[in-house]
Amino acid sequence: MPAKIKTKNAIVEMDGDEMTRVLWKMVKDKLIRPHADVNVEYYDLGLENRDRTDDQVTVAAAHATLKHGVAVKCATITPNSERMKEYKLKKEWKSPNGTIRAILDGAVFRCPIMTRNVKPTVPSWKKSIIVGRHAYGDVYKNTEYRVEGPGKAELIFSDKNGKETFRRTIHEFDGPGIIQGIHNLDSSIASFAKACFECALDRKVDIWFGAKDTISKTYDGRFKIIFEQVYQKEYKDKLAKAGIRFAYTLIDDTVARVMRSEGGLLWACKNYDGDVMSDMVASAFGSLAMMTSVLVSPTGVMEFEAAHGTVQKHYYKHLQGEKTSTNSMALIFAWSGALRKRGELDGAPDVEAFADALEKSAIATVEGGFMTGDLARIASPAPRRICSSEEFLAAVAQRLAASRK
Ligand code: NAP
Ligand code: MG
Repeated sequence: MPAKIKTKNAIVEMDGDEMTRVLWKMVKDKLIRPHADVNVEYYDLGLENRDRTDDQVTVAAAHATLKHGVAVKCATITPNSERMKEYKLKKEWKSPNGTIRAILDGAVFRCPIMTRNVKPTVPSWKKSIIVGRHAYGDVYKNTEYRVEGPGKAELIFSDKNGKETFRRTIHEFDGPGIIQGIHNLDSSIASFAKACFECALDRKVDIWFGAKDTISKTYDGRFKIIFEQVYQKEYKDKLAKAGIRFAYTLIDDTVARVMRSEGGLLWACKNYDGDVMSDMVASAFGSLAMMTSVLVSPTGVMEFEAAHGTVQKHYYKHLQGEKTSTNSMALIFAWSGALRKRGELDGAPDVEAFADALEKSAIATVEGGFMTGDLARIASPAPRRICSSEEFLAAVAQRLAASRK
């Protein structure tokens, strides 16, 4: 076995909850620690510790991510009233991902992991499609009103001195109906655009953005203008140097092109489009357990995680001593993504190579017919063995060790 690789600068590690916390430890013990001395700055985002620290641990982890530039995060429980009781919480703490996203001013990109034996539902898709969702504003921060009867709806804007500077009729109602007010911010759209360009550069894929600027000339038109400005000012040369293209088309056209494409692109989506399309793309690629997710800040800071949650049902089985067959692929890829990024930033090709080896071993294991139950249902040909959580990781570990001889 070659000498252990070492990382120079720190990766921020955020531990999490339930089944993913169990798998997290196994991934570290079986796949990372035997081969690498990773300099981690550890934060325990497990729900008990968030409660103990009044959620300050989440805030500290996010600031550490800004400082070090790379983080890897386990799935965490977002508490609701049931969880309040289950964990006897002081408070219904906010979603950790929401807290971290706000501090990093980041956008989330979901990237499927592809293997030869789990084929996408869309036959032309040969490479993965990364969906980036602008997670601010629009219909998600709306003001709505149910109109009960005849009357007039107007759009009014007053400046900070209270002086009315804009008024236009939305509709003169003859009878009942509905109205809705939405907004967005230039700064948020620009941050999103930067995060998209940073992610495309990192993954070395073309970037497509679509909106409805023919119909919504001012609102969607603004998205188009800001993307173009950010591109021209900050990314045109960088993308050209990397051989990456940026294309804006009408959203209808983007959807049609994505369906006919062979993949290998980043699809930047407005908030609602991203909400809907990311679920479509995820299900077309097979399994939630094969979906990774990366939070990218406008300055290129990255936090890697699995797109799925803490797999609560499997955890309860695990607690009762039953065997589980929980897929650790997305967690493994969260680690490899963070290690590769760390290696890139530190100029450490051996760290990047280890990240590649880790991913190759995991993919080869699935392609060799060893997989967990979720994939067994959709794999073709049928698996050679449906593995337990531990067996799958042991099989990956064996391949990884062999590849490093
Ligand atoms: P989930 O953990 O994603 O699991 C939903 C179902 O998807 C599972 O019951 C399982 O289906 C399947 N699944 C997901 N990941 C899998 C894997 N790795 N291997 C095999 N099957 C997998 O969603 P949830 O149960 O609705 O949420 C549980 C907790 O996760 C919640 O408290 C929520 O707040 C949290 N959550 C966290 C994040 C995050 O931190 N990023 C994201 C989403 C949810 P079967 O039961 O049919 O096998
Ligand atoms: Mg959705």
